[in-house]
Amino acid sequence: MMRSFTTFHLQYAHRFYNFEGEAQYLHGHTGTLTIEVRDTVNPGVNMVFPCNEIRKTAWEVLQNFDHALILREDDPLLKPILKVYEEQGIRHGSPRNTMTGPAFKTELAVAYPECRLVVTKESMTVEGMIKIVHELLKDKLNIAKVTFTSGDNAGSAEFTPLHSQCRCPRCGVALDENGHCYKCGYQKKC
Ligand SMILES: [Zn+2]
Ligand SMILES: [Zn+2]
Repeated sequence: MMRSFTTFHLQYAHRFYNFEGEAQYLHGHTGTLTIEVRDTVNPGVNMVFPCNEIRKTAWEVLQNFDHALILREDDPLLKPILKVYEEQGIRHGSPRNTMTGPAFKTELAVAYPECRLVVTKESMTVEGMIKIVHELLKDKLNIAKVTFTSGDNAGSAEFTPLHSQCRCPRCGVALDENGHCYKCGYQKKC
């Protein structure tokens, strides 16, 4: 077993609603997120997993957190902010809001990419973000570890991938359930 990992930077605004401290005020960060994928070394390409492929898969959902506002579902700021966005005509999107991933909804977070908002069940601490990221990507990547750093706060968690992923011996990406490589057309013979 070895690991492949990749790092992302996310700019976001948030606050910890009902937290006794400065973080109860709206503020912003550049967060650094590292995702480590663990598996056997795929003998065909001599890689665990191509890092650009981890990037592509993860960024699809992660771009919803970039230049986004992240608020807890019970935060009273949510309503007035959406009202302002509505009145300004940007609540349902804008021609300049193009770096958006597909909307998602899990137990822990709901993304509204059209107005760059993520609503979370719990406060978006570094620990909260790690849980959200794992929940979003655990079925797509064999995640072994997620690390998140935001200002002076940093956290990490280890996870156990369920099974080894079946990967293309030519380009290293995960094969679909039919043993087909979407990238190079390789077909696994069973
Ligand atoms: Zn903060
Ligand atoms: Zn392939």
